[in-house]
Amino acid sequence: MIEPILTIVVPCYNEEAVLPETISVLTNFMIDLKNEKMISDRSKIVFVDDGSKDGTWDLIYKEGLHNEHVRGLKLSRNVGHQNALLAGMFNVKDLSDCVVTIDADLQDDIETIREFILNYTAGCEIVYGVRKRRETDSFFKRTTAQGFYNIMKKMGVDLVYNHADFRLMSRRAIQELENFKEVNLFLRGIIPLIGFRSTTVYYDRKERKAGETKYPLKKMLAFAFDGITSFSVTPIRLVLLIGVVSFLVSFFFGSYFLTLKFLGHTQTGWTSLITSIWLIGGLQLIAIGLIGEYIGKIYKESKQRPKYIVEFDTFHMGIPRHLIEEKWFQKNNILENS
Ligand code: UDP
Ligand code: MG
Repeated sequence: MIEPILTIVVPCYNEEAVLPETISVLTNFMIDLKNEKMISDRSKIVFVDDGSKDGTWDLIYKEGLHNEHVRGLKLSRNVGHQNALLAGMFNVKDLSDCVVTIDADLQDDIETIREFILNYTAGCEIVYGVRKRRETDSFFKRTTAQGFYNIMKKMGVDLVYNHADFRLMSRRAIQELENFKEVNLFLRGIIPLIGFRSTTVYYDRKERKAGETKYPLKKMLAFAFDGITSFSVTPIRLVLLIGVVSFLVSFFFGSYFLTLKFLGHTQTGWTSLITSIWLIGGLQLIAIGLIGEYIGKIYKESKQRPKYIVEFDTFHMGIPRHLIEEKWFQKNNILENS
């Protein structure tokens, strides 16, 4: 059997602290796989620089000059983890049979990739890496993440439980993913929609090797909210439900107060009035805001802006290497200075 060409895609945002280690660990791993004839010699590791502000791209670029296993893709600015993943997958798919995406911090166990490949050669188009346990995460992150999966499930979104973006996709699956044209891409929700034969592989998630998490609480909440509103209209339905309930309640109170009035026991009414003004006003604002969120999404979709822009890459086979390098050196004024 011919060995598949594997590309490992690694999104990197300000990862200079951990990158040297990641590069050497992944390179050694890839050399092992090639020696064991599990993958083709044309397999590569592609680091996607997601508009980092530190020396990340320099590290990636320079590594590629002497390390034949490493290539880089530089995005024109920071577009976020999800879009960086897409940029990586879409740009390498024509050069690969299958693509594995993994975070730069080596929290995911690379040895699992062997099982990914075995499942791929056995005919799976998508292989999900799923964490066995979450004890390396803080208590807070663990419970919020768990809560997120539960909420998503209640809203009818089919997620693979405890699966982050550590997975293998075949070229075919990536081609199909390209047909999902939406700008608000929530990968973990979309990929199960592609279908095909898929499976899950379990692994232990470790601590981040170095550097800091790029998902502080604020970003995590935004990510979760985005995920929900990209996939489910249940929140809008809830608003409708609350509206209906409060309408019925007001109907009840209305008749009650009218009865009181006719019996001559009219209250001064200030308390109930002011409470309902606040209550109804609040509900209305929430409802409008929520619907606005969806309209905002439609607005973004209608513009169909590109999800990422590639500034530079070091792996396109058509262009001779020396030309790529010259171009980069010229652009960065390195030729003149040195
Ligand atoms: N990342 C990225 N763009 C961003 C934020 C993060 O490409 O805007 C990358 C980051 O470099 C890492 C991966 O996404 O490789 C996951 O980030 P992180 O490890 O900080 O998230 P956590 O594991 O803490 O959820
Ligand atoms: Mg991480």
